[in-house]
Amino acid sequence: MTAAPILSVNRAQKKFGGLIAVNDVSFDVKQGELLGLIGPNGSGKTTMLNLISGALKPTAGEIALGGKAISGLAAHHIARRGVSRTFQLVRVLPSLDAEGNVMAGAVFGHRRLWGEEARELAHRLLERVGLAGKAHAPVAAMTYIDQKRLELARALASDPRLLLLDEWLAGLNPSELKIGISLIDELRHEGRTIIMVEHVMDAIRTLCDRCVVMSSGVKIAEGGVAETLSDSEVIRAYLGD
Ligand code: ADP
Repeated sequence: MTAAPILSVNRAQKKFGGLIAVNDVSFDVKQGELLGLIGPNGSGKTTMLNLISGALKPTAGEIALGGKAISGLAAHHIARRGVSRTFQLVRVLPSLDAEGNVMAGAVFGHRRLWGEEARELAHRLLERVGLAGKAHAPVAAMTYIDQKRLELARALASDPRLLLLDEWLAGLNPSELKIGISLIDELRHEGRTIIMVEHVMDAIRTLCDRCVVMSSGVKIAEGGVAETLSDSEVIRAYLGD
């Protein structure tokens, strides 16, 4: 691991009218790290991902990718710089087949691959996420886990410097969950840098190098997984007794 962080969030704040959804939150993500962003519903996790990806602009504070400020840039510019994400409610392009969805990720990401190169990459990634043979399947008819796999393949198609997973494991049954966790584990072993918003605690314990815990917009804990999850404030705010 290099010392310089890939992502640096410095005193980020987001207000929606009178509500402070993210309040003075700072943390870094190092190259190759898998960071879990956890906390109760409404604590500001998705808003934080939206600030990083540029879907929302921070009210105050700075966010830097590879040492360069990205806060305030439009989402497509941040994507071009190498931030890629999946969404809490799966977003695939229903008018395209699986191959087309992944190719779209390749075209719009920072690698900007076109034509045959994008198609080859799409096929490699579809195989990678367990969708070999489904390149031309109609996306709307795919099962939920297959749509999740597809969304992951699309997010990977830009070869992101930072991958944001917003509850990617939510809604999977126990056997699908095992598959999902091992897919993320593979990405981690490849050295991908990932922030994962997740409620599945087994996944957090298995996969994450570190956790940041939010509650009511504020960061209440940060550190190694075992240490963070046994913190009394975290237990009180999130895990219950
Ligand atoms: P989490 O992802 O931890 O469940 P969110 O980031 O979705 O939390 O929400 C944090 C708070 O911000 C909540 O109170 C939510 O209602 C509010 N919020 C989120 N997005 C918006 C928005 N676009 N407009 C107004 N309030 C919002």
